Amino acid sequence: MINLANRVQTLTPSTTLAITAKANELKAKGVDIIGLGAGEPDYNTPENILKAAYQSMLEGKTKYTPAGGLPALKEAIINKLQRDQNLTYGQKEIMVGIGAKHVLYTLFQVLLNEGDEVIIPIPYWVSYPEQVKLAQGVPVYIEATASQSYKISADQLREAITDRTKAVIINSPSNPTGMIYSKEELAELAEVCREHDILIVSDEIYEKLIYGQTTHTSVAELSEDAKNRTIIINGVSKSHSMTGWRIGYAAGDAELIKAMTDLASHSTSNPTTTSQYAAIEAYNGPQDTVEEMRSAFESRLEAIFPKLEAIPGFKVIRPQGAFYLLPDVSEAAQKCGFASVDDFVAALLTEANVAVIPGSGFGAHDTIRLSYATSLEALTEAVERIHQFVSSKW
Ligand code: PLP
Repeated sequence: MINLANRVQTLTPSTTLAITAKANELKAKGVDIIGLGAGEPDYNTPENILKAAYQSMLEGKTKYTPAGGLPALKEAIINKLQRDQNLTYGQKEIMVGIGAKHVLYTLFQVLLNEGDEVIIPIPYWVSYPEQVKLAQGVPVYIEATASQSYKISADQLREAITDRTKAVIINSPSNPTGMIYSKEELAELAEVCREHDILIVSDEIYEKLIYGQTTHTSVAELSEDAKNRTIIINGVSKSHSMTGWRIGYAAGDAELIKAMTDLASHSTSNPTTTSQYAAIEAYNGPQDTVEEMRSAFESRLEAIFPKLEAIPGFKVIRPQGAFYLLPDVSEAAQKCGFASVDDFVAALLTEANVAVIPGSGFGAHDTIRLSYATSLEALTEAVERIHQFVSSKW
């Protein structure tokens, strides 16, 4: 018998990946499943990026690189931050890692001592609490309800802070809610962080996917103080449809970045070399494909939102960014005779053949998450199936 380490005893596998695996299993048996679970764009990586990667391999750039990323990639990221957000960083303030997920993991490993608290708004991205716990930290949750557009207030943040609080995570645009904090809302949160001297982990991975009149502000843009206490987390996965390449980065305090880089030097050696060359092209090359994908997601959202809203017992807020919808389906689940939304989701998969993610994985038990990073045809069919399923059981 293998005795696993205590640190993994309470580890919950990612719900998103679990439901996708179940859906794939059914698909392999020939069942016509429509998957709305995906957390990734359904486009291939743009061709100029593919070519740059191939070219780098032909040129023999296939060896180890510095642990925290190639200077040329850091330069491309520095330019991106200057261009898009008017933020100035130096090479020592950037660390490139194997996707934003692993960058966050590395951050918590170097930041937290046992018992240190990290404030996480609910609904949250599945990996935040697990990563904090793996670093022996304690997740402290603040519930952001639908009535507050799934965003925490400065008062809520103030109340959650203790003398063990080390950081708060702000994910805007948010997975799973699609909500975006306005400049004013961020300024209020940043002020509380200044008062209590806590760090802000600003996960901006969906920065490029924003819709309608909404604009995206990074909390680091607000003031010198906000910039100094913010670690920006971002990457190419969602903006350039590069989820499989695994390139993300952190931008922030040089001491923190050095510690993260030192840890990476013993855990990963470096982010995959070819992927780094691809990411250089992603940031330095033409950006029109980023806009093309954004605009396609927006059209799908426009088409699908009214259909989803029309399902009995579904309450849904129009997302401002990312590519997820998070309807509260508690009424539908109950009226259809299910004890929980999780049971409703399980039946949707086996009876209506639609795979969605139960909100329980995001701390939002009344909701389900649907990704619209799939074709409009599949989306329309899936929402029709859900509608019929609910109507037939109501
Ligand atoms: N942060 C959020 C909110 C995400 O949704 C994801 C991916 O789903 C990530 C970070 C990780 O992205 P990456 O593919 O760069 O690891």
